[in-house]
Amino acid sequence: MAVRIDRELCNGCGKLDEPLCVRICPGDLLYKNTDGKAAIRDTRDCWDCAACIKECPKQAIEMYLPAQIGGRGSTLKARKSRDKIIWMLKRADGVEEIIEIEAHRIV
Ligand code: SF4
Ligand code: SF4
Repeated sequence: MAVRIDRELCNGCGKLDEPLCVRICPGDLLYKNTDGKAAIRDTRDCWDCAACIKECPKQAIEMYLPAQIGGRGSTLKARKSRDKIIWMLKRADGVEEIIEIEAHRIV
């Protein structure tokens, strides 16, 4: 799996000194580039915890999933609110699946 940052969607978390994805990554893999957008140091060091995907308010980060899950090229995004996380899985055939998880079930 691999994480990809959409540079069109990323706004660098606006005026925040430390973007939310940078703050949450347990491996310190993300940073704010000189162009003000988030970037990843080395995707090979990412262990696919998905913390950055959940945290991004612009849905600018997606994860490429193994072919066994949704076909080659399937991706996963997320939108987090106070009481739930909405996972958006886009399969290789273009079909989208939405999975909602209530906050009290999130560990
Ligand atoms: S959290 Fe999202 S919008 Fe903010 S810097 Fe990271 S990728 Fe960009
Ligand atoms: S998936 Fe986890 S380890 Fe990988 S870049 Fe995002 S927060 Fe860091």
